Amino acid sequence: MRDDAPGASGELLELDRRHVWHPYAPMPGRTPPLLVESASGVRLRLAEPAFGKRELVDGMASWWSALHGYNHPVLNAAARDQLERMSHVMFGGLTHEPAVRLAARLVEITPAPLEHVFLADSGSVSVEVAIKMCLQYWRSVGRPAKRRLLTWRGGYHGDTWHPMSVCDPDGGMHRLWSGALPRQVFADAPPAGFDADPEPAYARSLRELIARHAPELAAVVVEPVVQNAGGMRFHSPGYLRVLREACDEHGVLLVFDEIATGFGRTGGVLFAADHAGVAPDVMCVGKALTGGYLSMAAALCTSRVADGISRGEFPVLAHGPTFMANPLAAAVANASVDLLLAQDWAAEVKRIETGLVSGLAPAAELPGVRDVRVLGAIGVVQLDHPVDMAAATAAAVSEGVWLRPFGDLVYTMPPYVTDDADLALICRAACAAARAG
Ligand SMILES: *Cc1c(COP(=O)(O)O)cnc(C)c1O
Repeated sequence: MRDDAPGASGELLELDRRHVWHPYAPMPGRTPPLLVESASGVRLRLAEPAFGKRELVDGMASWWSALHGYNHPVLNAAARDQLERMSHVMFGGLTHEPAVRLAARLVEITPAPLEHVFLADSGSVSVEVAIKMCLQYWRSVGRPAKRRLLTWRGGYHGDTWHPMSVCDPDGGMHRLWSGALPRQVFADAPPAGFDADPEPAYARSLRELIARHAPELAAVVVEPVVQNAGGMRFHSPGYLRVLREACDEHGVLLVFDEIATGFGRTGGVLFAADHAGVAPDVMCVGKALTGGYLSMAAALCTSRVADGISRGEFPVLAHGPTFMANPLAAAVANASVDLLLAQDWAAEVKRIETGLVSGLAPAAELPGVRDVRVLGAIGVVQLDHPVDMAAATAAAVSEGVWLRPFGDLVYTMPPYVTDDADLALICRAACAAARAG
C-alpha cells in the first residue's frame, strides 16, 4: 500500500515484519502496516505517503478510544503534569489522588448501585476481574457450584482466557479454542434492531435458559445494546430488562461489558445500560476511559457483590496487577472524563449520528451491501460477503481516511471532535471501501 518506503521507514517496516506481532496477524507479517509518525486532532500523519496521502482522517478513533482526537492540549497537560509528580507507584499499600478521584468519578457517572471500583490495566483484564468477582461472590456465600457463565452469541469480551470463553463460540478466532476454553451457556444472538420491539419468543427463551441453568450460573455477561467486534449488531434495550428480571428471579449476577459502548458512544446516554434504565451488578469500562492515551479499564461492582466477597472464607478480591491504577493513565482519564462532561457531548454524538445517517445512505444502494445501520457515533456497512480487507482499506486510504474493515463489515466510530467536512469524507471513504471490498 505504501507508495515507497525509503531509508529509515523501509528499515523500520522490515524490522516490524520480521519481529513484531500485530493484532490477529501472522508472523512474519504479510500485509505491511502503515507507519504513523504523529497524530493530531482527527488526523494520523504517515511517515511515507500511501496512495498519495500523507495524512489520514481516523475513522476508527483507535478502536473506540480516541474520543477527543489526538495530541489534545488538555490531555497532554494532564499527562505532563502527572509525569512530573510520578508516572507510577505500586497500588498495594499505597494510593494516590488520580486513582481515588477517578474511582469516585466513575461511581458518580455509572448506574447508581455500582459503588466499588477495580482499576485494571486493560479491557480484557477488567472482564477477567468482573468474572472473578462473580465467581468469588458465589463461593463466598456458600454456592461454589455457581461458576458457569451465560451469554448470547455474537459477543466479544476480549482475548484473554475467560473473556474468550464468552465471545461468540463460532465467530472470529475463538473457534480455534473450542475444547480448551471453559464451556459456557449460550443463548441465540439477540434479534437485531435498536428500535425494534423485543420479541416475546426470544425474551422467553432467555428467561428459560437462565432458569434452567441457574444452579450452575454465576453470572450473565453481555455487551449492552451494541455487540461490537462480534459483528457490530444493535439490539433492543428491552432485552437488558429481561436479563435483569430473570437474573434477579433466579439468583444470577448480571455483568455489562461497556468497554466499547461507554462514554456516550451509543448516543443520548453515557452508558448503554441507561437506554434500558437497568443497572448491572458488575460493569466494565475501558477503551475511551483515557481518551485513547493510555491503557486502563475498570470493573465496578455493587456493595452486595463486594460485601459477599468480603464475608467469605478468603475475604479479599484476589487480583492485583503490577500496573494497577497507574497514576499517569488515571490522571489522563480524569482529564478525559472532565473534558467530555464539560461539553454538550450528547449534541456532538447526535451531530455525528446525523452525519453518518446521511453520509452512509448511498452505501445502501451498492451491490453486495446487505445493511447500513447507525447508532450514536457508530456507523456500519454490512456486506453480503466477507470483505476483501486489503482492497477495502486501500480504497479508504485513497480517499484519505483510515478504516479497518473486518469480517463482512466496513464500519466507523469517529472521534467526537470530527467536524462535518471530515465526517462526510469518512462516509465517502466507507462507501468506497464497501464498493471495493
Ligand atoms: C475491546 C473490548 C474488550 C477488550 O479490551 P482490551 O483493552 O482490548 O483488552 C472487551 N470487551 C469489549 C466489549 C471490547 O470492545
